[in-house]
Amino acid sequence: MIARNAWRLVEEPDSIWGRVLKGKYFRNSDFIYSKCPTSASWAWKCLHTIKEKIKPFISWIVGDGKFIDPWCDRWVPDIGVPLPKENTSPDPNLKVADFIDQESRMWNRRKLQTHFDQSSFEKIVRIPLSSTNTPDRRAWDLTRDGRFTTKSAYVGLNAIPVRAILNQRMNVGDILCPRCHLEAETIIHALVTCPHVSRIWFLSRLNAHTDQFKDKSIGDWLRYWCDLNPLNANLDLSQEFLFVACLLWAIWNSRNTLIHKNHNEPMQTILAQASRMIPTVSNSCATNSRFRNANSDTHTSTTSPPTTGWIKINTDGAWNPISKEGGSGVVVRDSTRNFIFAAAIYDMFSSAEEAEIRAIWIVVKKAKEQNYRNVEIEGDAKAVLEQLRKGDFNGTWSTDAFLKDIKSWTPYFENIVFTLFQELVTL
Ligand SMILES: [Zn+2]
Repeated sequence: MIARNAWRLVEEPDSIWGRVLKGKYFRNSDFIYSKCPTSASWAWKCLHTIKEKIKPFISWIVGDGKFIDPWCDRWVPDIGVPLPKENTSPDPNLKVADFIDQESRMWNRRKLQTHFDQSSFEKIVRIPLSSTNTPDRRAWDLTRDGRFTTKSAYVGLNAIPVRAILNQRMNVGDILCPRCHLEAETIIHALVTCPHVSRIWFLSRLNAHTDQFKDKSIGDWLRYWCDLNPLNANLDLSQEFLFVACLLWAIWNSRNTLIHKNHNEPMQTILAQASRMIPTVSNSCATNSRFRNANSDTHTSTTSPPTTGWIKINTDGAWNPISKEGGSGVVVRDSTRNFIFAAAIYDMFSSAEEAEIRAIWIVVKKAKEQNYRNVEIEGDAKAVLEQLRKGDFNGTWSTDAFLKDIKSWTPYFENIVFTLFQELVTL
């Protein structure tokens, strides 16, 4: 259903129907879900191939579960796609949301057990659920934190069989390019080197020059973006690969709009369409104004008591990577150093980061329940604290729900500050 809609959306991107659907379901992407009918032109098949190669490396982090197809999407840690219970056939109408009790925001274990095999069931119930309904999120699988990186792109995309599929010519004879009417419309011409298209690449954030690809294949173009360019070691081209793929897609859409509707879309429209399609980009630039960057000069050690009116909380997590067992502890004190409470949890964690984040989750929850207005949370998990200070609440399958909770609770505070524990430095 989603796939069919995406296809129609791509074919009719400007229809009222298409806009409604895009606003509703595909604000970020129609890229990953579209399908490739057998009647599609080879150029379309080419784009589809690229997309299909990326797809296995994209998985889902469960939010509200409304977008995730339990039987087709990769969303279960370690295994990706879960297995249906023996002797049952998967119900295609179900979404992951149907297995979540919306009242309690817990997994509906009974329902899970009637649909999934035991080992899948055990993995699914390990996925934490946020107490707030946040949208499902895509993650790039090849990195631990789900962010797209050079190395992972290189590993993952090396698998693209570019030559086999992408070197062909359009199967429509020698029909001229509908944009420039100057050359035959080969795939590299249509998507990269046509003077009109070339300008789009140049005006995009990539500032790409396409001249040297005139007699190359689209495969060369893709490889250029996938490979680490040894001559430009600090030019991280593969970071841009998803944008490149989306821009190819958008250029292809605009070509179809030109042919089928005789409408020549402005370059800015095409670029905007590509930007909207980028699948998995964390929204780390949205800094929450409630997060004050605590000045480490004023808080030089955990032993310093909280300033008046402030509650100071120290957290720490520990984790054994072999046994996967971990613990998180918290200590809460008021501004006069008085001990308020301490708590510890002990559980199986998937990472040290999870142990740290769960400790912070506990204290923010507790602080909110206690109506503390100004809270300083101090720990030694540098990466986690820096992430929170930046207002970035996207995590992995095991931490995302906790981070989303923390995000939803922060507006209750006048100030909530995350500080890195630092040993007192004697100058
Ligand atoms: Zn052309």
